[in-house]
Amino acid sequence: MKSNEIQKSPPSNWSRINKQACNSSFRYHYIRKSTVLDLVTPIAIIISLKGECLMKQIASFTIDHLKLLPGVYVSRKDTVGNEIITTFDIRVTRPNFEPVMNTAEIHTIEHLAATYLRNDKDFGNKIIYFGPMGCRTGFYLLLAGDYESKDIVPLLTNMFEFVRDFEGEVPGAAAFNCGNYLDMNLPMAKYIANRYLNEVLSSIDDTRLIYPN
Ligand SMILES: [Zn+2]
Repeated sequence: MKSNEIQKSPPSNWSRINKQACNSSFRYHYIRKSTVLDLVTPIAIIISLKGECLMKQIASFTIDHLKLLPGVYVSRKDTVGNEIITTFDIRVTRPNFEPVMNTAEIHTIEHLAATYLRNDKDFGNKIIYFGPMGCRTGFYLLLAGDYESKDIVPLLTNMFEFVRDFEGEVPGAAAFNCGNYLDMNLPMAKYIANRYLNEVLSSIDDTRLIYPN
């Protein structure tokens, strides 16, 4: 919803925010109609008669995480200039049903996967970003271009095989290159990569390529 659309009440999926955190620079807001002056009064943040502040919920919070299985999903598509950026949800553990990854193996996968992706002959120059989700159940991959989730299954297969088969010193795992270089667990990274290859990528279908309704 754009700021110039008139709403009598906020949409149901907006999040209530502590009033102290409200900020007039927010992009999204709605316009409250004044019952006293019968004027349309623009306000930069949503303050209802109770003094509430609401912010638009970001798209990824609207996915039912209780139905979400480990898989490869398109999280969102954004347009930057004339280019579409596709954000993928690479979900490694089942949210709220199985243990999340520890930071050490996430960190190791991040170093190895980012190194692989930026060196891939087909996708290397399209990689915008690869990094972990804060909930530690998966990773985000941002690619320049308009893609569907099945388009990157071969890329992810190569990437996780690279992690599974990796031996030796993890790239960038040194004090000069990284902010927490001792927090690494290569054996667990290899275990997770192997499990994702076997349980998700090797026989993937739409139940693990398209978000649940
Ligand atoms: Zn690091």
